Amino acid sequence: VSGLLGLCRAGFEKELAAELDELAADAGLIGHVRARPNSGLVIYETYEAVPAALFEGIADWRRPVFARQLMLWFGRVDDLPERDRATPLLDAVKAAGQRFGELVLETPDTDEAKQRSGFCRRFTEPLARVLEKTGALRTGKAGLPVLHVVFESATTAWLAAAMPQHSSPWPMGIPRLRMPGGAPSRSTLKLAEAFMTLLNEAEREATLRAGLRAVDLGAAPGGWTWQLATRGMHVIAVDNGPLADSVLATGMVEHLRADGFTWRPQRTVEWMVCDMVDQPSRIASLVAEWVATGRCRRAIFNLKLPMKRRLDAVEQCRTLIRKRLASVGSYDLRIKHLYHDREEVTAYLALHK
Ligand code: SAM
Repeated sequence: VSGLLGLCRAGFEKELAAELDELAADAGLIGHVRARPNSGLVIYETYEAVPAALFEGIADWRRPVFARQLMLWFGRVDDLPERDRATPLLDAVKAAGQRFGELVLETPDTDEAKQRSGFCRRFTEPLARVLEKTGALRTGKAGLPVLHVVFESATTAWLAAAMPQHSSPWPMGIPRLRMPGGAPSRSTLKLAEAFMTLLNEAEREATLRAGLRAVDLGAAPGGWTWQLATRGMHVIAVDNGPLADSVLATGMVEHLRADGFTWRPQRTVEWMVCDMVDQPSRIASLVAEWVATGRCRRAIFNLKLPMKRRLDAVEQCRTLIRKRLASVGSYDLRIKHLYHDREEVTAYLALHK
């Protein structure tokens, strides 16, 4: 393996580069990181090729906040000829001597690169067939890594491997979510994506259940509340602004016109979600307080990031939460820059049982 390859939202390369640098340093690797501004792609290159095992435990896409996807790259093919891109790719995969269980063709998420997404779709089948013929690809065989071919340009492709359990399940790290009819705002997709990304299957099953109680701070017009209510949860929606009729029509929502920073529930609720626009440190302190004092069992919240020093802002929130919960118990804090997030990240916080 020659290094790490991460995909991110265009404009966030600097943040992801710093995170990959730190991951690699943790693993004792020596190398350097390369990230063209607005390319949506970050490459960490080690000075010497290293065994894949060295990356075990560090190359998990959940760890870096700003990675939509994280892989181990082992080759790059330049000067791909338009008439036959398959042969040089095949040669490079064969040279690596590794077997794969699935093939994914993708591009970074930029307007320029996305012009090649039609090509990626059309080319997947033919490339899979030639890879299968040589034995490098054994489609459907469990336990093997996924082969990612990332087209940085029409003529340059990166070859990378990712274990399914350590990588995003979606091509380009982008879950394609349809806007549900009846939800009042597109930000409803943010919470839907947070459930898919920040929780595992068992957690979703246990905690997104009909009959549980939830609070939504800064709820209007109700996109997040809608996600909870349509799962059969009883939601207290706190906001001075109005909720959409479709949200109230679920019959599961109580609207309170109150200040989300000072209002507290009478009894413990399963979920507190918070999308109030305020300083990240204020939001993080509020959520830590709710969790520490048992007002909610778990929380999902948005941290709006300043344009500069975004990583510092995230780090500051981590520290605030760590200090508040130090005497309370161990906890899970997961923070991701979701596809539906712009200048913000989304986080999950819960105490361990
Ligand atoms: N998550 C919502 C959705 O999906 O429809 C959108 C929330 S919007 C980004 C932020 C909301 O926070 C606004 O409706 C605003 O009125 C509310 N808000 C801001 N400060 C607040 C406070 N101190 N208390 C209660 N609500 C607040």
